[in-house]
Amino acid sequence: PAAFVVRDQADLRRRLLGAQLQAEAASAAKSDFVATMSHELRSPLNAVVGFAQLLAQRPELSDGARREASNIQTASRALLTVVSDVLDYSALEQGNVALDAAPFSPKELTQATMSLVQPSADAKGIDLKFDIDPALSGSTLMGDENRLRQVLLNLTVNAIKFTTAGSVRIAVRHGDDARFVRFEVTDTGMGIATADLPLLFQRFSQIDHARTRQHGGSGLGLAICKRLVDAMQGQIGVITAAGTGSTFWFEVPLPAVACEVQTAPSALPETTRGARILVVDDMELNRDVAEAILTRSGYEVETANDGLQALSTVRTSAFDLILMDVQMPGVDGYEATRRIRDLGDGFVDLPIVAMTANVAADEVERCLARGMNGHVGKPVDRSRLIRMIESKLRTA
Ligand code: ADP
Repeated sequence: PAAFVVRDQADLRRRLLGAQLQAEAASAAKSDFVATMSHELRSPLNAVVGFAQLLAQRPELSDGARREASNIQTASRALLTVVSDVLDYSALEQGNVALDAAPFSPKELTQATMSLVQPSADAKGIDLKFDIDPALSGSTLMGDENRLRQVLLNLTVNAIKFTTAGSVRIAVRHGDDARFVRFEVTDTGMGIATADLPLLFQRFSQIDHARTRQHGGSGLGLAICKRLVDAMQGQIGVITAAGTGSTFWFEVPLPAVACEVQTAPSALPETTRGARILVVDDMELNRDVAEAILTRSGYEVETANDGLQALSTVRTSAFDLILMDVQMPGVDGYEATRRIRDLGDGFVDLPIVAMTANVAADEVERCLARGMNGHVGKPVDRSRLIRMIESKLRTA
C-alpha cells in the first residue's frame, strides 16, 4: 500500500472523505451482490419448494414416495431459511428495517411461536413450558408482532436445538422498567462457556462448528435477533454457564393499548373460479409452478415469458389480474407495468401483483411506488398467493 503521508488538515479531510466514499461504495456493492445472489438462489429454490409441495399432495403416491417428497420439502425449506437469513441480515446491516407496529396479543404471539416448535420439542422429548404474567396475559400491546415472533422463535429454536433433555420455558413479563416487556427463553441444555460469550450475537459465529454442522443453522440467527431488537429500541442478552443451561432474554418497549386484537384470518378465502390470470416470468420452471398452483385452485392461467410478451398478450385478451416477475431481461417488470398502465382505459386499474424473489422491504415499497398493487415473495406459498389474489381481485 502507498505510504500515508498527510500534508495538511485539508489534505487529511480530503483523504478521509475519499476513504469514506470508498467504504460506502464497497458496502453498496456488497449489498447489491447479496441481493443478486439471493435472487439467483431463491428462483430455483422456488421451483423446488413449489413442486415438492404439489408432489407431496398427490393422492396416488405410495407411502414411501410420499415420505421422499416430504423429505425434499423439509430440506428445501431448511435451505430457504439459510438463504432468507443471509438476505435478512444484509438488509438489516444496511439499516433497512421497516418496523410495522400494530396492536397484538403477547399471549397469542407466544402461543403461536410455541405451536411452531412443539413438534421438534416432542421429537426430542423436551418439555415445552409457557409462563405469562397475569398482568400481560389479557393485554393488547403495540409493536411489530412479526419481528418479535422472529426473535422469540429464533431463541426458542436454539434452546431446543442445544438441549438434549429436560425443558424449555418461555416466560413473558414486564421488565424492571415497566415500559418494557421482557421475554425469556430458559433451557436446561449444554450452556455456554464464559470465554465463548463474546462470540454470541456476532454474525457467522457458531461456537462449536462440529456440533453446529450436526444441528444445522447459518450462524446468523442471534446476529439478526440483536439487530432487530436494537431497531426496536430494546436490549438482548443471555445468562448462562457451561453445563447448566441458558436463559436468553430480550426486552422491548411495548406500550399497552386499549383495544381488542383482530385475530388473523385462518381459513383460506374461496377462490374466484374462472378468474383469468396472466403469469409473467422469464424462468420456465417458475411459470410452471405458478401455473400448476393456480389452475389447481380454479383460476384460468396464461403465461408470458417477458415484459414484451406480456404487453402483446394483454392487448389481445382480457385478464383479471397479472402476476409480474420484476427482474427479467429486456423489458423488466417495472417497465412492463408502466407500459401496461399507458395502454389506458381498462388497464389503469388492472391489478398487477409483483411476484419476485427479492423480498427486501425497500423492494416491496419500490414495486408499489412503480404502480403495482401488491407483492408476493418467491418461493410462492400457495395460501399467501391465493389470499393476495383474492384481496386484489375483490378491490379491483
Ligand atoms: P445458528 O444458526 O448456528 O443457531 P445462532 O446465531 O442462532 O446461529 O447461534 C450462534 C451459536 O450460539 C450457536 O451455533 C451455538 O453455538 C450458540 N447457542 C445459541 N443458543 C444456544 C443455547 N440455547 N444453548 C447453547 N448454545 C447456544
